[in-house]
Amino acid sequence: MSISVPSSPPPLAARDPREYPEGLYIHLPFCAALCTYCDFARELYGPERPDRYLRALERELAAKLRKLHPDGAPYAPRTIYLGGGTPTALSPGQLGALFDLIGRHVDASRVEEFTAECNPGSADTGKLELLRARGVNRVSFGIQSFQPHLLQLLGRVHGARDGAEAVRRARAAGFDNLTVDLMHGLPTQSLEDLRRDLDAALALEPEHVSAYGLIYEDGTPLTVAMERGQFPRPSPEEEAAHYRLVMEACEGAGLRMYEISNYARPGREARHNSIYWHGEAYLALGVSGAEYVGGERRNNRRDVSGYLEAIETGGDPIAERERLGPEARAREALVLALRLREGIDPAAFAARWNFDLEAHCGAAFAKFTELGLLEIAAGGRLRISAAGLPVADAILSELV
Ligand code: SF4
Repeated sequence: MSISVPSSPPPLAARDPREYPEGLYIHLPFCAALCTYCDFARELYGPERPDRYLRALERELAAKLRKLHPDGAPYAPRTIYLGGGTPTALSPGQLGALFDLIGRHVDASRVEEFTAECNPGSADTGKLELLRARGVNRVSFGIQSFQPHLLQLLGRVHGARDGAEAVRRARAAGFDNLTVDLMHGLPTQSLEDLRRDLDAALALEPEHVSAYGLIYEDGTPLTVAMERGQFPRPSPEEEAAHYRLVMEACEGAGLRMYEISNYARPGREARHNSIYWHGEAYLALGVSGAEYVGGERRNNRRDVSGYLEAIETGGDPIAERERLGPEARAREALVLALRLREGIDPAAFAARWNFDLEAHCGAAFAKFTELGLLEIAAGGRLRISAAGLPVADAILSELV
């Protein structure tokens, strides 16, 4: 069964997106090689395990939809996101089986955005054409860098030219909505390195760029090498300089920052991720899938074997669940919303989340405003200031 994405989706019924999952995330944990900085749930691709995994995904999806719609009504999300791992590590036959299983359970008539993460090293023309033919309308390329020494440091399987070639193949396959992932704050990465990466990425005229500072996750080979002194960790000043350079280059190329790490041409902001940033509900499938439905956060097991065994024996793949109280939910929504460049309308936020901002956060707001890290922007909206952007994570961590 093929999934068709209509050019003009029908209007949405009046569903509260804080409660009803308008987004569907599916995690494909297989990769051609394991990157040195990676802490995601993933394992090396082997030809047989994905078939078993796809069968488990279908069982999980069917069980979730029975709970969501006990009356058997179709599930018609607004966004679908295939993440990983590396979805394009799957063979064409396995990708076809993935789309078939989605098509058996999901009504795609309302899907506005269907994204697939692609590794430039595995996104050949055949797979890109398959994705497009099966309804994917947005591709996210994990390019990270165009420079051999940085790709090698990160343990990426693709080479310096593969990123640009993959983008050209995607254009030829008919994609008009592409996003490119870049990394900054890497060990040994100079400002000139980053400038070259930005020039190379922006020359491809992507509709969207995500640029994340490297997070040194405990126990990854890259972190261990750094702790052994093989290279120094960039200083906070260097990280801030990288961040500002990304901002200047992307905005100079007509990509507006709409979230602290994301830039887009008008109308090309990521709709699926916007569900997260607006504190709305979403479903997630697969190993490490993290979903948020009806005020409950649920995280699946992170090991593929445990996930498969739980599903195959009729058990529960969920490793953790947490029901957030009204205050915790509102605080989380606040922290997510302040990631957005538009910030928040304090009165509207307080009403939407039934949360007394002044009582709970007034002191922190005053402190950060005094330091010039928060500001009141046009229309009375509260947002992180330009000076605060490079240290946004530290600001937000005080508001949780
Ligand atoms: S391709 Fe992505 S998920 Fe796979 S190892 Fe590299 S960073 Fe991790």
